[in-house]
Amino acid sequence: MRKPKIVLLGAGYAGMMTTKRLMQQLSIEEAEIILVNKHNYHYQTTWLHEVAAGTIDQNQSRIMISDVIDPLRVTLVEETVEKINPDQKKVTLQNGELDYDYLVVGLGFEKATFGIPGMAEHALSIQSFDKSRYIREHIEYQFSRYRNGEKDKEGLLTFVVGGSGFTGIEFVGELAEKLPQLCKEYDVDLSEVRIVNIEAAPTILPGFDEALVTYARRSLEDRGVEFKIGTMIKECTKDSVIVGDDNEEIKAETIVWTGGVQANAVLGESGFELTKGKVNVDGTLRAPGYEDVFILGDCAWVMNQETGRPYPPTAQIAIQEADICAENIKALMKDEPLKEFVFDNKGTVASLGGRHAMGTIFDGKKLYGLSAKMMKHVIDDRYLFMLGGPRLVLKKGKFRPF
Ligand code: FAD
Repeated sequence: MRKPKIVLLGAGYAGMMTTKRLMQQLSIEEAEIILVNKHNYHYQTTWLHEVAAGTIDQNQSRIMISDVIDPLRVTLVEETVEKINPDQKKVTLQNGELDYDYLVVGLGFEKATFGIPGMAEHALSIQSFDKSRYIREHIEYQFSRYRNGEKDKEGLLTFVVGGSGFTGIEFVGELAEKLPQLCKEYDVDLSEVRIVNIEAAPTILPGFDEALVTYARRSLEDRGVEFKIGTMIKECTKDSVIVGDDNEEIKAETIVWTGGVQANAVLGESGFELTKGKVNVDGTLRAPGYEDVFILGDCAWVMNQETGRPYPPTAQIAIQEADICAENIKALMKDEPLKEFVFDNKGTVASLGGRHAMGTIFDGKKLYGLSAKMMKHVIDDRYLFMLGGPRLVLKKGKFRPF
């Protein structure tokens, strides 16, 4: 008898953890498992701000998929997904096609620029491993330019970060640590450097507790970050941003946009019904009308029944969804009842660079400074442990605090 074929698209948090759980729950005789990803490695998206700033070794944040997923159990396909045809149960790849019995979509997010003129063309984004290491190289290159005859170029060492959400704040925190080091390395006076964080909303880190927001802002300002809050970016050019009601022009050779993300465009191109770019999944994480298609992570619109609002896109949710998804695929195969997804909020900790961090854990307990930073490392290492056991923690972990 033909084995059911489970195809997973995207080796991010959702795709990797679902694959891992399926390997644990199904024997090799029970199902064929195929994992499709653009690269032969998995990267930790939650570390990309550090890759982009150059505050960690870039290879610490990526893991060869075959190091944690047994290629004898799972077929790894290094390919780009172009389209899904859920009616025919087929996936179109750049160089081929796959059919499936069960599909798991975990293709993550893309940059959303809300039509701000020039933003899509000129701003850099912390969107993937490749784009993040490009930013790292770009930043260092500006210091080389300074030392090689361009020191008078306006905005050469101005680093503008658009957006003060989680990613924007974590990134400016890393810049506040990294740029002084680059100044020393390239013999540049620190006063030549500007880090400017611009946010249209009336506060940084919208949705965070007020005391934590105040702490984060003060910690970053103490290390030289300038904030322009309640200020719209109206346009982005090759070497500047135009901001605010008075159309102030800020010259900058480095502009990084973190102000918005949207689900992977493959969803829309595949004809799924979308809510704000995502698939509004049912309680069992399946796409409406398709009993065999699970949508996870940043591609899924999952409602918080308590608040009546969707959960924000986080790795924490993607990982928890993976557990339910794997169990539900097994249940479908065995004709058993499916489980509903219930999010268990374990808290959120934002890194602010170096020894600085803040956040809440479990029951809302607030953490600041070094204890928050240690907790952030515990969270990062816990994921590595779940994915690859102690060996992976020893190889890639942040167990050495500093
Ligand atoms: P991803 O992890 O983004 O994985 C998507 C995968 O799909 C990638 O491997 C990609 O290469 C692959 N892919 C994409 N398109 C294609 C294609 N067409 N064909 C083949 N493969 C493709 N969340 C937290 O919970 N805590 C944090 O502290 C936190 N910090 C963050 C910091 C930063 C800098 C950023 C950017 C995000 C952070 N997040 C955090 C959010 C979190 O990273 C995302 O919510 C999470 O990565 C979503 O997981 P995912 O599996 O849906 O997608």
